[in-house]
Amino acid sequence: MKKVYVVLLISSLFACNFDERRLNEDAQRFIDEYSKEYVKLYAASQEAQWKSNIDIKEGDSTNSIQTRKTEEAFAAFTGSEGVIKKAKAFMEHATSLTELQRKQMEAILFSAANNPAIVDSIVKARIKAETAQTEKLFGYQYKIGNQKVNTNDIDDILKNETDLTKRRQAWEASKEVGKGLKEGLINLRELRNKTVQALGYKDYFNYQVSEYNMTTDEMMDLNHKIMKEMWPLYREMHTYMRYELAKKYKQSEVPDFLPADWIPNRWAQDWSSEVHVQGINLDSILKTKGAAWIPKQAEAFYVSLGYDPLPTTFWEKSSLYPYKADSNVKKNNHASAWHMDLNQDVRSLMSVEANSEWWETANHELGHIYYYMTYTNKDVPPLLRAGANRAYHEAMGTLMGLAAMQKPFLENAGLIPQGVKTDSIQSLLKEAMNSAVFISFSSGVMTGFEKSIYSDNLPSTEWNKKWWDLVKQYQGVLPPTARGEEYCDAATKTHINDDAAQYYDYALSYVILYQMHQHIAKNILHQDPHACNYFGHKEIGDFLRKIMYPGSSKDWRKVLKETTGDDLNANAMVDYFSPLMGWLKEQNNGRKYTLPESL
Ligand SMILES: [Zn+2]
Repeated sequence: MKKVYVVLLISSLFACNFDERRLNEDAQRFIDEYSKEYVKLYAASQEAQWKSNIDIKEGDSTNSIQTRKTEEAFAAFTGSEGVIKKAKAFMEHATSLTELQRKQMEAILFSAANNPAIVDSIVKARIKAETAQTEKLFGYQYKIGNQKVNTNDIDDILKNETDLTKRRQAWEASKEVGKGLKEGLINLRELRNKTVQALGYKDYFNYQVSEYNMTTDEMMDLNHKIMKEMWPLYREMHTYMRYELAKKYKQSEVPDFLPADWIPNRWAQDWSSEVHVQGINLDSILKTKGAAWIPKQAEAFYVSLGYDPLPTTFWEKSSLYPYKADSNVKKNNHASAWHMDLNQDVRSLMSVEANSEWWETANHELGHIYYYMTYTNKDVPPLLRAGANRAYHEAMGTLMGLAAMQKPFLENAGLIPQGVKTDSIQSLLKEAMNSAVFISFSSGVMTGFEKSIYSDNLPSTEWNKKWWDLVKQYQGVLPPTARGEEYCDAATKTHINDDAAQYYDYALSYVILYQMHQHIAKNILHQDPHACNYFGHKEIGDFLRKIMYPGSSKDWRKVLKETTGDDLNANAMVDYFSPLMGWLKEQNNGRKYTLPESL
């Protein structure tokens, strides 16, 4: 009896091994064939988009037609029924696939879910609705009273005006656009959910979260944890801001919650323009160096960390400088970095001029470029040549931009004289009023709102109430006047309309960047995180390469743990701003705190 059992067991093991091997071979063949076509169509669409960005001629739609064509071809292939069926069939045996194969199948299905042919009519309706929505948003004519204004005019008022009546008018004017966007957003919620549900995702929010290999609850918990860690600092800043703004607007009474129209930003997501720092001025010296020096010097920074020089094709094919003002051809002046073919063709689009803004930007964009170059290697297949998660790429760029702006770095580069005096508390306060304040908006308000509309199917009769409940809870901000359901104040934020359900990416990228920076400052350089000089330290390059090399082929949590020794948390960010805590507490001494002590 025993013998028979053993024999049976062995033969079934053999059968299993054999099937598994065949399954792996079949899966690999499918992945290889898919990847070949994917890269071809991706590169064609990138090339067309590139031209659309650097070769803009009025009245000439050649490029936009080509862009649309190549994007349609890409969408038709990635969302095709055959691809979906096969990938799904392989995923039924997910445990028998290698980890790398499983990750590639997931990437294939994630791409498919954006345009699945199996629900073709819904996809078409969604694309149409998205286009209509952005046209409505960007084509909207803002008005203060009868006067036509644009969003820059409104932002200027919110940054500079001290007359509260004028501020309120401008703030209210900025929210009118939401009324006309509500209907479209209700429709988009349904279409977005239905598109991804065709591939088995619960809803659109869950779909976006799945790219992190997390459940919706895990993502919500993570965002809550970050806010909880940041909360004591936020509470101090909130108190400080209430009193400072009451003083500035000559109000005898300090409000318990910040009135939304007192803040220098339409969504209260960035308060930094309230702080004026006598800063470091690089512009005059950069002018003597000239624009072309900037990207070259940024490259030298990366080379000093042990990276290879940029490929010659980068210099030949990139578009790095602005066109002449009278040129018939225009370009997009917003900086970006491109991985054209998921291989060696890397390019950057910039309009570098000799000033400090472009100095920081050039160092930032090369962070993306070196990330592309590093995960383009024999161990990472094309489909996984991406950041460890969506937040990492931006974290990397911002980290390197930040490093290139620190005082010892600038002194070393000869861009400022040695020993220039700066007000370190004021510049730290300005930084916190940007990044630390932003966490409440991104992790709390935006993420909470989009989760409740996509995952919890919140009735549209409660949207504006929900939005303002979240704003009050996480930002400690109140609207100046009643905001009924005829408004849709969330929809005044671009991302709600055209980049839905992924706003936590920005919060996470800040958190990750401070984790990386703290590790470098404390464990590699042994320098003060507020005053570092990365230049010339090959060990920093080694550390960054360990993060960059696997692309998205390795779980991002493992990557973080193995490189920084830590899980994702905001402690590094809290530490970084800790000199500010003492200062703020002194300022707030005797003042009334209105936010709860902990979240
Ligand atoms: Zn970037």
